[in-house]
Amino acid sequence: MTTISVIKADIGGLVGHTGVDPDILSFFEEGLKEESIFDDFFVGWAGDDIALILSHNKGENHPEVHRIAWELFKEAAELAKDKKLYGAGQDILKDSFSGNVKGSGLGVAEMEFEERPSEPIVVFLMDKTEPSAFNLPLYKMFADPFNTPGLIIDKGMSKGFRFLIYDLVNNKQAHFETPEESYALLGYIGDRHYAIKKVFARSEKFPEKEPVASVSTEKLSLIAGRYIGKDDPVAIVRAQSGLPAVGEILEAFSHPWLVAGWMRGSHIGPLMPVPMEKANPSRFDGPPRVVALGFQVNDGKLEGPVDLFDDVAFDRVREKANEVADYIRLHGPFEPHRLPAQDLEYTTLPDLQERYKERWQPIE
Ligand SMILES: [Mg+2]
Repeated sequence: MTTISVIKADIGGLVGHTGVDPDILSFFEEGLKEESIFDDFFVGWAGDDIALILSHNKGENHPEVHRIAWELFKEAAELAKDKKLYGAGQDILKDSFSGNVKGSGLGVAEMEFEERPSEPIVVFLMDKTEPSAFNLPLYKMFADPFNTPGLIIDKGMSKGFRFLIYDLVNNKQAHFETPEESYALLGYIGDRHYAIKKVFARSEKFPEKEPVASVSTEKLSLIAGRYIGKDDPVAIVRAQSGLPAVGEILEAFSHPWLVAGWMRGSHIGPLMPVPMEKANPSRFDGPPRVVALGFQVNDGKLEGPVDLFDDVAFDRVREKANEVADYIRLHGPFEPHRLPAQDLEYTTLPDLQERYKERWQPIE
């Protein structure tokens, strides 16, 4: 069995929230080379977030895999502090490792599977948004025949898929099966407080417990009863032969969907698909970005990556994203550009309410 773990954090930005420091990327590359537990690895990034893409045979939630990632991020955070990078150590929420990165501030998307004769995967890295930004594209990939004709013309997909959904406010989970329960599924995932955590194939070609897509949601489910802010998410999606083709997976990003995040994690803006080198969100700290790295998994080796949005065919999506950014930016501090008060990541509204408390009188 092969396990792919993508473990990510923002441990300090260069400059501000726009990018990552090349010395810190090298630190991760050198550090991972020392570790014999991995069959292969790739250090990716999007904006100010670094993602360790790790291949091994230890299964999900393996303490040693998580410990190595945790210690590297913690050490890198110290380097970032020495360099006075922006927000150095911001995602390191705990001082010591407790057997698992959950609750530590690191995000993780993982999946264990039996490698097929050919095993293409796409690893997505997003910046300036939140895990539920994957809801719409994952629905398109796995449940919408207008995006994925394979749902109709590939026998392997005709049974549809099963979605594991997290309720990020109440810390609950539920499964929904498509196509039968599409309307119920959409009723939930159309709300950003629910996030798709995993997708499973219903075809008997795939073992019931083997995910075909996995998204990071860790930070958000930390505190029950309150939506505690955004975490730039990552996801792994398997492709082809009974699953969406690579092109069907990428087609789900052929429109710049509006997502929450952007400046101060407090604005709605268009999600722009870009090659990794172009994932330096600088206009109003955005607009939000998504990077897609394609690998062929070969007995645990990661052949690739191919930087999949590095294609002129996505130029028009990027242009449209810029147009949408121009349009929505004009709204300034007004909704729906600005998020509703309860979802603002940073806010002085309680201070404001305190200061002007006396001014508010009953309407005459
Ligand atoms: Mg970020």
